[in-house]
Amino acid sequence: MNNRNFFQRLMLLGMFFAGAAVLVWLFTHGLPYFCPIRWIFGMECPACGMTRAVNALFHLHFLQAYQYHLLVFVVIIYTGLLSVFWLIGKERWMHTKWLWIVFITLFIIWWVVKAAAFFHGAYPSFYESRAIIPRLVRFIGQFL
Ligand SMILES: [Zn+2]
Repeated sequence: MNNRNFFQRLMLLGMFFAGAAVLVWLFTHGLPYFCPIRWIFGMECPACGMTRAVNALFHLHFLQAYQYHLLVFVVIIYTGLLSVFWLIGKERWMHTKWLWIVFITLFIIWWVVKAAAFFHGAYPSFYESRAIIPRLVRFIGQFL
């Protein structure tokens, strides 16, 4: 890869991270955002809390970031690695299957842990009773 390509990619990467930072800031400072999975099915998705966790990292509140979403550090490491791969022209490494299998598996495990905590009464905010499906279930339940 020549220098021109490298600096083009560096600029694009900078724009990507600046855009992502602006979105995180907006969503955590008043711009309404609702997780569609949470507000349809009534339960958190595997990524719920990630925006708040990244925002906490912006403020160097590492413990709070961990509390919002444990995997925020994994996301940061992956994003850093993939950025470097892409920057040095090794996009091939981004398509390494096991990298994504590990990544997705970690999110699924974390989601199962949160669900288990909910069913043991330790994590009540996992469930959203005002979501569409729980409301429908209650509505239909009235007639049974
Ligand atoms: Zn979610």
